[in-house]
Amino acid sequence: MNRLRYILRGRLLLVTVFALLGALSKILGSLLYGSRALFVDALTSIANLASLFVVLYYLSESMKPPDTDHPFGHMRLRYGGIAAILSIYMFIAGFSAATLCYSSHGYRVEEGSAYAAITGAAFYAVAIAFSRNLDESIRVYAGFTAGELIEAGVVIPSTWLGYTKGYVFDLVGAIIILLYLFYEAIETHQHLVRAIADTSPPQRVYEEVAREAELRGLIPTIIRLRMIDEQHCSGDMIVEPRKGLTPDIADILADEVMDELHKRGCDVVIHVEYSRPWLQKGANNKSSTKK
Ligand SMILES: [Zn+2]
Repeated sequence: MNRLRYILRGRLLLVTVFALLGALSKILGSLLYGSRALFVDALTSIANLASLFVVLYYLSESMKPPDTDHPFGHMRLRYGGIAAILSIYMFIAGFSAATLCYSSHGYRVEEGSAYAAITGAAFYAVAIAFSRNLDESIRVYAGFTAGELIEAGVVIPSTWLGYTKGYVFDLVGAIIILLYLFYEAIETHQHLVRAIADTSPPQRVYEEVAREAELRGLIPTIIRLRMIDEQHCSGDMIVEPRKGLTPDIADILADEVMDELHKRGCDVVIHVEYSRPWLQKGANNKSSTKK
């Protein structure tokens, strides 16, 4: 429960209420006054709201400490939320595409569509404003970003032109929003793939890991790191102790390096290797691995 409270330190209830009001105005407006652009926009708002709760659930799961079935921790469970968002996006994209196909013969857009679009956008803008206090990743994944207001910038003029000049303008608006939805889906997909593909952290993380070891007289020969999520990495490192370091001191120092890196969000297993013959005198094991 504490984990969830941490995530929800923002005003989740207010975000939900205003996002729901925005989605309701859009869905009612599109059903009552005929706008397809507003209909597709309404579906994306509902999808954002559904995404919010899926993301929250998986984020809370990902904060559990390591246990027997997940000895490396649960951090990557947060990507369950992104996978779900992708499914939600694709469902509404298919549903919208089918609706637009059936609408291609023509339909009537009434004045109310434009007013509903403005009302919906206003509610949504308030939801975005309240979502500022939420965790950054929740906001982005659940679509509570200013980028969502771009859709309003398409829907409001296209519903108005659909009413004054003809349905084609409204239909074009709907297609633009649908294309934007596919674009977002591709971006989400790429994000997910990058996240689970064991991508290397930035060079500065390698430098930081090497520096921590070198500070203690352990010279890295091989470092391999991968990102676990946006903030955490893991990997292994082979180090050679500097001349004069006895094996037990090198072990203690390697432990220190591991603790320090763990505190900074990177779990590195260090293998101390003694390749210099003068160090092996008296030591019966050639190397030791710390866990
Ligand atoms: Zn577990």
